[in-house]
Amino acid sequence: MAEACRFLKRQGPSALPIAGGTDLLNEIKEGIAKPEFILNLKRLPSLAQLREKDGALRIGAMVSLSQLAGYPILRRNFPILSEALSTLATPQIRAVGTVAGNLCQRPRCFYYRHPLLLCAKKGGRTCFALDGVNRYHAILQNEPCPMVHPSDLAPVLIALDAQVVLAGAKDKRLLPLEEFFLLPTQDITRETVLTPGEILIEVQVPKPKAGTRGTYLKFRERGTGDFAVVSAACSGRVLRGTVVEMRLVLGGVAPIPFRARKAEEMLLGQKPRKDLLAEAAQAVLSEATPLPGNRYKIRAAQTLMVRAMQAVLK
Ligand SMILES: Cc1cc2nc3c(=O)[nH]c(=O)nc-3n(C[C@H](O)[C@H](O)[C@H](O)COP(=O)(O)OP(=O)(O)OC[C@H]3O[C@@H](n4cnc5c(N)ncnc54)[C@H](O)[C@@H]3O)c2cc1C
Ligand code: SF4
Repeated sequence: MAEACRFLKRQGPSALPIAGGTDLLNEIKEGIAKPEFILNLKRLPSLAQLREKDGALRIGAMVSLSQLAGYPILRRNFPILSEALSTLATPQIRAVGTVAGNLCQRPRCFYYRHPLLLCAKKGGRTCFALDGVNRYHAILQNEPCPMVHPSDLAPVLIALDAQVVLAGAKDKRLLPLEEFFLLPTQDITRETVLTPGEILIEVQVPKPKAGTRGTYLKFRERGTGDFAVVSAACSGRVLRGTVVEMRLVLGGVAPIPFRARKAEEMLLGQKPRKDLLAEAAQAVLSEATPLPGNRYKIRAAQTLMVRAMQAVLK
């Protein structure tokens, strides 16, 4: 592992790690990524382990999405993950794509993916989406790059309070998945905190406390093989009629998975009344700055948040 990280660090941007290749190979074919070297993570068998330790789920970076979906305890202990995986891409992509690749995949913004356009994320001067077609773009935290993070796993894993282990040439670091993602205001060219030479090696998911419920709701245009237009992951616990724990995370609305903290704060310690759920969702969206083409996402996010909270806080 250390040798792999040293190699990546030495080569800098001219080398990229490859996992299942379902995203990276497309980027290379489209001329968006032009690595001189590709480091095949399949050669590191320790990254393919999937196990439980101290009640937590330890998911190696190279575990495929279908392998995770088929893990025996998943449906029982982490049903929200099962739900998300069943809506993610297609069986073919899930068989090849990996968990780390899903978290590290690059944006789906069609201007970014266009081989002839050099948008701000690719080092150019302009964001074509701000004045162009922005139907699928962000409504929150959307300056200067309104891309949305495409991963379905990310909001769910953040709702489950997952952590990631990153390995570098010299040491490892453990951080909450929520802190793994970078806003364009922090660095418009990157989506994660990974530094040159670092590899995401493991995702750790704590076992939810007894009585925790969770759900993942995904609004997409096509029934299968489609990214979320808007999604909501919610995990929470109600004790004697009062909300004692809740984490609500939105996908498809911001450049990073968006933690709906305002709603969480409004619900904690309260009875989950229907009017309060609607107010909490509205409070989250009061910060929205929709673009001309994506105002509809406000209503979609409001609806998904309320439905997700209703399902979890019964
Ligand atoms: C048709 C289609 C539909 C899709 N639909 C969905 C969907 O509905 N929901 C969804 O969430 N996703 C969807 N995806 C995206 C898909 O899930 C990802 O392409 C896949 O998970 C990426 O995993 P991979 O192993 O193939 O990554 P790769 O393509 O190998 O790598 C992706 C990126 O991550 C980097 N990388 C990979 N592993 C590591 C690591 N361990 N450490 C550091 N960097 C790493 C690579 O350098 C590369 O930049 C879809 C993709 C396609 C093609
Ligand atoms: S939204 Fe981001 S990725 Fe898309 S064109 Fe603008 S700068 Fe590029």
